[in-house]
Amino acid sequence: MTWNNLLQPDLILSGSVLTLTPDIIQQYGLKGLVLDVDETLVPITVGKASPELKQWVEQIRACAALCLVSNNLSESRIGGIARSLNLPYYLGAAKPSRRKIRAALQSMSLPEHQVGMVGDRLFTDVIAGNRLGMFTILVEPIVHADAALRSHPIRNFEVWISEALGATITPKQTKIDKE
Ligand SMILES: [Mg+2]
Repeated sequence: MTWNNLLQPDLILSGSVLTLTPDIIQQYGLKGLVLDVDETLVPITVGKASPELKQWVEQIRACAALCLVSNNLSESRIGGIARSLNLPYYLGAAKPSRRKIRAALQSMSLPEHQVGMVGDRLFTDVIAGNRLGMFTILVEPIVHADAALRSHPIRNFEVWISEALGATITPKQTKIDKE
C-alpha cells in the first residue's frame, strides 16, 4: 500500500461527526463505527459530551455498533466521556498503531470492511483504519467555541502533506476509489 492510499479517506465529510447520518452508514454497508474522541466527538478543551453528541449517539447506535478508541492516556477524560455515552472504550491507542482498534473490532465481532474508522486526523485515524482495511471517514474537527482557538496547524499540515503525496482531501459524500 502506498502513502497516498494510506492517507486517502474513503469518505470525507464537510462537517463534524454530527453530520454522519444513518443513511450514510447504511449506504456504505457499515455495521459498526470506531470513533476517535478528541476533537472528533469532544473539543480538547471540554471535558464532557454535549447534549447534541448524546442525541447523535442514541440515533447512530440503533444502526451501528460503536466503540471509542483514543490516543489520549487520560482515564478520567476518555472513561468519563465513554461512560456518559454508555459506550465501550480503549485509551492510549497510539494510532496509527492497529492494536487497540483490532481489539475494538474483535469486541464488535464484525469484519473490518463493515466498520468505519471515524476521526479528524489523517496521520493517526485514517492511516490506522486504512492499514486494517476499514472504511475510513474523515470528519471536520469539533472545535472550541472561541474562534481564536479554531486554527488547526497540525491538521492543515497533514492535509498539505497528504495532498502532496497524491491523496485527495476534498470534502465529498461519494466514495473515492482506491487503486
Ligand atoms: Mg482526534
